[in-house]
Amino acid sequence: MSSIKTNAAQLLVSMLDELGHLTDEPGRLTRTFLSPAMQRANRLVGDCMRAAGLQVRVDSVGNLIGRLESPDPKAKTLLLGSHLDTVRDAGRFDGPLGVLLPIVALADLKVRGVELPFHVEVLGFSEEEGVRFASAYLGSEGYTGRLKPATLALRDAAGISVGEALEEFNGGKFSLPKPAHQRGDLLGYVEVHIEQGPVLEAKKLAVGVVSAIAGQSRFKLTWTGKAGHAGTTPMALRRDALAGAAEFIAGVEAIARRMPGLVATVGALTVSPGAANVISGAVVHTLDVRHADDRRRRSALMAIGRLATQIAGRRKLTRAWQRTQENGAVACSPSLTARLEQSVKVVQGKSLSLVSGAGHDGVVMSTLTPVAMLFVRCRDGLSHHPDEYASPKDLAVALAVMTDFLRGLATDYTDEHG
Ligand SMILES: [Zn+2]
Repeated sequence: MSSIKTNAAQLLVSMLDELGHLTDEPGRLTRTFLSPAMQRANRLVGDCMRAAGLQVRVDSVGNLIGRLESPDPKAKTLLLGSHLDTVRDAGRFDGPLGVLLPIVALADLKVRGVELPFHVEVLGFSEEEGVRFASAYLGSEGYTGRLKPATLALRDAAGISVGEALEEFNGGKFSLPKPAHQRGDLLGYVEVHIEQGPVLEAKKLAVGVVSAIAGQSRFKLTWTGKAGHAGTTPMALRRDALAGAAEFIAGVEAIARRMPGLVATVGALTVSPGAANVISGAVVHTLDVRHADDRRRRSALMAIGRLATQIAGRRKLTRAWQRTQENGAVACSPSLTARLEQSVKVVQGKSLSLVSGAGHDGVVMSTLTPVAMLFVRCRDGLSHHPDEYASPKDLAVALAVMTDFLRGLATDYTDEHG
């Protein structure tokens, strides 16, 4: 690693630290949609963008956009970015890494006198985590022109709607934004993000390339049996909702273990009436099922559905399903991913292909342009936590990959477009 790269990585670390102090809640890091801390974050990152030679603006949904123009006005635009909002009591890396790293990479190329033949836009999305309005991706939905009237009606804990918050942010007037670009004008969207999982750490690799973002289905399930006295109701006469749910949950785990790449989770459960001496009459629980291949996710859901029917029939329980979320899988762009893999091999010696189990801005951006993602190892796979950590050494690797990627893409682009 050259000394320039090490200096660039140190600059990135100090920028992540500085941004990590901009919070809406004293003592912990929390930045939510359009909050005062988000506006301070936009000013700070905007200054970093300007220092790297980018033209800076903030759009009507609070997205920070830094643009580096190529000498050819007709050139296409490459989008790089991630989100600047955070969960409650967050770490410093989830989101900001994917905004700050491209800025440092572009500054590094500028210092070396490298001029890119395409325009670049670095995007700091105003909302991805869904904290304030319990609806995720508001920033990228605004950028891609996919914000829906129904979303504007959602209200935060203080009773303020998305529409009202956006009107105030825009000085009284807000209308649903159009897509920021035409599809044909774009080269794609590339996002750098911490892995939020333990795979890179287990493989002892600093970075890996994402092949797909898993599709996910979420449900609320209700099992209903009959409450009764725990001492006087014989076992054979019981309709125990919790025993049925427990059998179901263990069965879901067994199905997920049998199907490679499938993850299925029951993460929250409520038992009624919920007393030590009462047989459970009703259980409500969540179910979250994810796979990179939508057909496999759907076939797993069929197997899970058959299991529920069979348990309910045998135990004389009724069950109700309510689908609460459904996102199809997003396959990453083969060409951008191959280019990214090549850069990872140059810098790291070997590349690793990973599926992203978590959703990212790339899910929404894929509706506008092909997407690719680079994952960076994070300690213990930990994220959404103040102890979230990626080492300066790994950040230097990710930076080197990004600069190599931009140079490689520049060569490809010049070959193709003259
Ligand atoms: Zn994130």
